[in-house]
Amino acid sequence: DSAPVTAHLATLNVDQRRAAEHASEGPLLVIAGAGSGKTATLAHRVAQLIVEGADPRRILLLTFSRRAAAEMARRVERIVGQAMGAKAQAATAALSWSGTFHAVGARLLRERAPEIGLDPSFTIHDRGDSADLINLVRHELGFSKTAKRFPLKATCLAIYSRAVNEQAELDVILRKVYPWCAEWEAELRDLFAGYVEAKQRQNVLDYDDLLLYLAEMLSDPDLGAETGGRFDHVLVDEYQDTNRLQSRILLALKPTGRGLTVVGDDAQSIYSFRAATVRNILDFPGEFRPSADIVTLAQNYRSTPEILAASNAVIGLAAERYTKDLWTARQGGGKPVLARVLDDAGQADYVVDRVLENREAGMTLKQQAVLFRASHHSGPLEIELTRRNIPFVKFGGLKFLDAQHVKDMLAVLRLAENPRDRVAGFRVLQILPGIGPANAALILDRIEDSPDTAAALDRFMPPATTAADWPAFRDLIVNLNARQTGWPAELEQVRQWYEPHLERIHDDAAVRLADLVQLGQIASGYASRERFLTELTLDPPGATSDEAGVPMLDEDYLILSTIHSAKGQEWKSVFVLNCIDGCIPSDLGTGTTEEIEEERRLLYVAMTRARDALDLITPQRCYVHQQARRGDRHVLAQRTRFIPDHIVDHFEARLWPAVIAGPGHAPAPGTPRIDVAARMRQRWAAK
Ligand code: ATP
Ligand code: MG
Repeated sequence: DSAPVTAHLATLNVDQRRAAEHASEGPLLVIAGAGSGKTATLAHRVAQLIVEGADPRRILLLTFSRRAAAEMARRVERIVGQAMGAKAQAATAALSWSGTFHAVGARLLRERAPEIGLDPSFTIHDRGDSADLINLVRHELGFSKTAKRFPLKATCLAIYSRAVNEQAELDVILRKVYPWCAEWEAELRDLFAGYVEAKQRQNVLDYDDLLLYLAEMLSDPDLGAETGGRFDHVLVDEYQDTNRLQSRILLALKPTGRGLTVVGDDAQSIYSFRAATVRNILDFPGEFRPSADIVTLAQNYRSTPEILAASNAVIGLAAERYTKDLWTARQGGGKPVLARVLDDAGQADYVVDRVLENREAGMTLKQQAVLFRASHHSGPLEIELTRRNIPFVKFGGLKFLDAQHVKDMLAVLRLAENPRDRVAGFRVLQILPGIGPANAALILDRIEDSPDTAAALDRFMPPATTAADWPAFRDLIVNLNARQTGWPAELEQVRQWYEPHLERIHDDAAVRLADLVQLGQIASGYASRERFLTELTLDPPGATSDEAGVPMLDEDYLILSTIHSAKGQEWKSVFVLNCIDGCIPSDLGTGTTEEIEEERRLLYVAMTRARDALDLITPQRCYVHQQARRGDRHVLAQRTRFIPDHIVDHFEARLWPAVIAGPGHAPAPGTPRIDVAARMRQRWAAK
């Protein structure tokens, strides 16, 4: 009696169903346009595998973010629930191998650490830590002094990361992506050698190492086969945004392609700046003999016909031919809006007014999202939302974990986990009064040379200003290092130690303490200190995102997100800020054809997030940051070149507010609308 078992498949269309039921003998590729149900189909496939008796512990599910993995797990549980009832929860709870390549990599590496010459207590550096470490090495090597124009730390790290992820030679990367740094090739090579050496000495891995070490580990025939053998099924969403290392990892796990499923959309490839390559998805079928089965999906379930038509028109102008004609059975809905506003302030007003209108009409705030190319584009809107008391959450930007005091707390835990982590060590030691870089370096050298952290700390003679605080610090680190208190209770211990220092260092200690309480709440959601540090470093939550388990949970809030972070998601109403040349496409890149094409796909990704309503906003003038020393200034802005005149009929043009009737009526750039300062002067002059 298989009828109830497969009931959930009846909601799928023929092609989706073919993918969901695909036998696992050979590899499967689902390549299809936005909103065609790729992610939904993947969830049904996982559910179907479980219902058919697959062991959920042997399913590896790779997603683009931790949020996406959690969302997928929820979906699977719902579907499995329909088929299996009460047993569903246990089955999906066992679906423990789901997450990003990086998070999964960290777990696999830690399990196998001793076999590949790694110390299992390694800590992970986020991009900020990595840049700090590379900077340290840069100074040690004297490059920053002797060579004035030597690339900045962030650029050095970007070059390093690109070379690693693209698996390409340094000179190739320099010529292709960083031509202005090519003269430093020899120095950069020394710098990267020093950086790698420093990481190993300190027992830290950076983001790229997680993929690199994993790929290396899997290239060993035995370790590759053993690790691959742990998983009967490996499924990957958003495959168009994986890089060469990631595809190497997949192929090493499943060399025959048996049990391997990847889904994606080549028209949505937007991560080439992180070395993602659309070739992965295009070349996938040919990697296997016989070649992978390919399923394409043609029906869009997300958007109204008018939104779909406009999105198709935009991507239809791409140089590349994406052969996916999406159609929709949905009906109704108006054209997407192309709203012309005066400037940043007008843009913020427009969005807030429309958002409130939507809410009046019954749409919650959570069903609406504001998307933008660069994180700082939402600044004026954030101010306006705050002024009008509209709660919002920002993704791809809110830097809860970047706050000094939160970083301090995490650094204490990291130092305890791995006393050789110098970036963490420098940070923590300098919290103590009387300890500067020189003393910190001295202590860290001793720790590095000694297997016994307690003994190394005891050999340090604290200066008079530190003497009173030293014993408590020493005991804290030794205690944590020995795991005497246990997780998450030890976080409270760290907080108690840190509190007086926080009050000494910061005037606004009370506010910051509240953050630390929140950090405690987040921490309680993790099974161990190591898991907490790893996951948080790899995929930091937004300060008030629901996954953080904070009070925001029941509240309604508007979503603000970079387009990059909005990938895979959908909202009833979507606003896209700054649809003007210079923002989309951004003028910060080098302006090559490939870059421009990627910006076009980015706009396509933004537009295809919308279900019922879409507003693209074009300020008439914008305040741009001039690169070439000319200072910031207002410039007249042009509508994005991705919406040329001949497709503009797909949109409803709107002027807002209606009084600005065209460029002739707009004040000249830089001219104030009302000269408040002059009025103030006049007022006193009259007296
Ligand atoms: P993207 O390319 O943006 O990641 P996608 O192809 O992954 O999109 P989904 O997010 O899986 O698309 O699906 C888009 C919407 O369509 C979701 O709301 C989903 O629930 C709905 N949907 C998918 N398939 C069906 C179906 N067969 N019947 C009804 N709704 C569906
Ligand atoms: Mg998807």
